[in-house]
Amino acid sequence: MLSWSRPSRAEDRIESWLVQRHQERVLAGETTPVGPCPDEIFLRDLARKAKRIDLLDPRVDHAANCSTCMTRLLVFRQENRSRQRKRTLVTAVVLCSVIGAVVITVARYGMHRQLPSANVAVVSEAVNLWDAGTIRGNQPGSLQSVFLPAAVVRVTIILPRFSPPGQYAVAVTQDQNGNGVVAQRSAPATINGDHESVSVELDLRAAKAGAYFLATTHEQDQASYYYPLQIK
Ligand SMILES: [Zn+2]
Repeated sequence: MLSWSRPSRAEDRIESWLVQRHQERVLAGETTPVGPCPDEIFLRDLARKAKRIDLLDPRVDHAANCSTCMTRLLVFRQENRSRQRKRTLVTAVVLCSVIGAVVITVARYGMHRQLPSANVAVVSEAVNLWDAGTIRGNQPGSLQSVFLPAAVVRVTIILPRFSPPGQYAVAVTQDQNGNGVVAQRSAPATINGDHESVSVELDLRAAKAGAYFLATTHEQDQASYYYPLQIK
């Protein structure tokens, strides 16, 4: 996320090499500064290239040729850099927190939108189809009724034996051809021991009491199974 890379053009490299060479000479005492050493305020301004610095000021010429001043300049510049870096880091951390807060808010908003209402009580129901007979399409099978309340139901369905893993759509329909969908949700099957189950939330509040079908559809092979369902 953080990067301090600068464009490294050839001129920049040559220029910084010249500066480097000059600094080395100054620090080694090979240059002769003119006049007295300026005060710390001036050197700090010079180190952070403050706009009020006049390059014709003799103190600039002095500092550029005095090993004492040059050493202090380099220290101040290092301080400025780490302060800037810290500021960048703080900015980045603040940005990350803000983004995090936004993501959480959006996620919460999304969840509330998915839920029929934030304050609706959700009824948990388990439906065991492990040994259930099914009707596939119009084929009759041995029927075993499932009961669900006319409420917002978190229904956990244990899928029939030999059900393939993957994503399942769970629906409550009015007939066994998939017509008159009352509620539908999709979720991946999870494995608990040798049982596979799918857990979805279905809003059945609008459903009138009566006979329906609970449909499970494996989304990869589109095979739908219908189980007789009674809504109470
Ligand atoms: Zn000096």
